[in-house]
Amino acid sequence: MHTNSLIELNRSAYQNNIDFLKKTFGKKVVLSSVVKGNAYGHGVQEFVAMAFQCGINHFSVFDVEEAKVVKAELQDKVTIMIMGLVQDEDMEWVIKNNVEFFVFDKSRLTQAIKTAKKLNKKAILHIEVETGMNRTGFDKNELNQVISLLQKRKEHLLFKGLCTHYAGAESIDNYYRVDKQIKKFEEIYQYFCKNDLKPEIRHSACSAASIMFPQTRMDMVRIGIMQYGLWSSPEVFVTYLNSKKSKIDPLQRVISWKSTIMSIKKVNIGDFIGYGSSFMAKRKMKIAVIPIGYCHGYSRSLSNQGRVLIHGQRCIVVGSVNMNMMTVDVTDIDIAKKEDEVVLIGTQKELSVSVASFSDFSNQLNYELLTRISKAIPRKIIE
Ligand SMILES: *Cc1c(COP(=O)(O)O)cnc(C)c1O
Repeated sequence: MHTNSLIELNRSAYQNNIDFLKKTFGKKVVLSSVVKGNAYGHGVQEFVAMAFQCGINHFSVFDVEEAKVVKAELQDKVTIMIMGLVQDEDMEWVIKNNVEFFVFDKSRLTQAIKTAKKLNKKAILHIEVETGMNRTGFDKNELNQVISLLQKRKEHLLFKGLCTHYAGAESIDNYYRVDKQIKKFEEIYQYFCKNDLKPEIRHSACSAASIMFPQTRMDMVRIGIMQYGLWSSPEVFVTYLNSKKSKIDPLQRVISWKSTIMSIKKVNIGDFIGYGSSFMAKRKMKIAVIPIGYCHGYSRSLSNQGRVLIHGQRCIVVGSVNMNMMTVDVTDIDIAKKEDEVVLIGTQKELSVSVASFSDFSNQLNYELLTRISKAIPRKIIE
């Protein structure tokens, strides 16, 4: 390995996930692959190339910066939809390149109209409406204004989608709130239709909603976490299993994260390891130094807790995770030596470190843990 660490993306695992998701949703539902947050840490450029080969042709991103990466990789072969930020100065690039985007406030709508007019080209809009999340989305009292602009500016606007986002579909606790959102979204859709404005498509579901509330799938689902082989929460996984009377996880983890031992050290009884006194050796120990730290996205909260795999055995992180390094206990692995493989996420021999178990130790969500993995680490697609 020429680098401190390497991230591998497993193409057959991804194909498995996509096949499962497509089978679950059926042919009529478009599967949009959500690749915000550097494709949940997988590396957006490499990830979208792989996803395209596996049959994905619709991508959802957060902002223009991410849209440009997808565009550079796949040009006009796929649809790109921005769910979040479009700065006024970027509007021209967006419309020129047929990039679709969420509109959730009046200033963006007028900016879209202005720019489309100037370019003599239609802006492709997804009108996001507020249904109860209270983040982005037009409020009920703004809808008449939106409707009138959409009607009046038809030559510059394509009303591609009507959409919303649910506030926590991954937890049964939010059932009542999400259920109310679903009903409200249907009412708003009917209101647009009554005003002679029928969007080409309707979409609302993220991974969790698509499983917990199948009626939210509509014409398109925006799937992030599940395509990477992880569940939004244990509740979503259990709900899926119960619906199938099966005990087998249909998803496979796509990402692996590997490094190598940088150096080996012997430590005497009573010695402290690393900064401060968080870890004292209670026996003679053999320690492996790994060139990974919190600057690479290995959380400091995994100090004295995280597990890695070396020679197919689980090794615990001892002492605190430093900026660029951490130390793990290899006392019981006689053959462990410099340059041996270290698995931070992934499988070695019979054992695995899953993203979930990684985050259980530190109380982080899968999402947060993955997106923290440094962009600078090279990504490689394996079969
Ligand atoms: C992140 C996001 C999604 C995808 O969420 P997952 O839980 O990862 O499937 C869908 N829609 C919107 C608006 C999002 O921001």
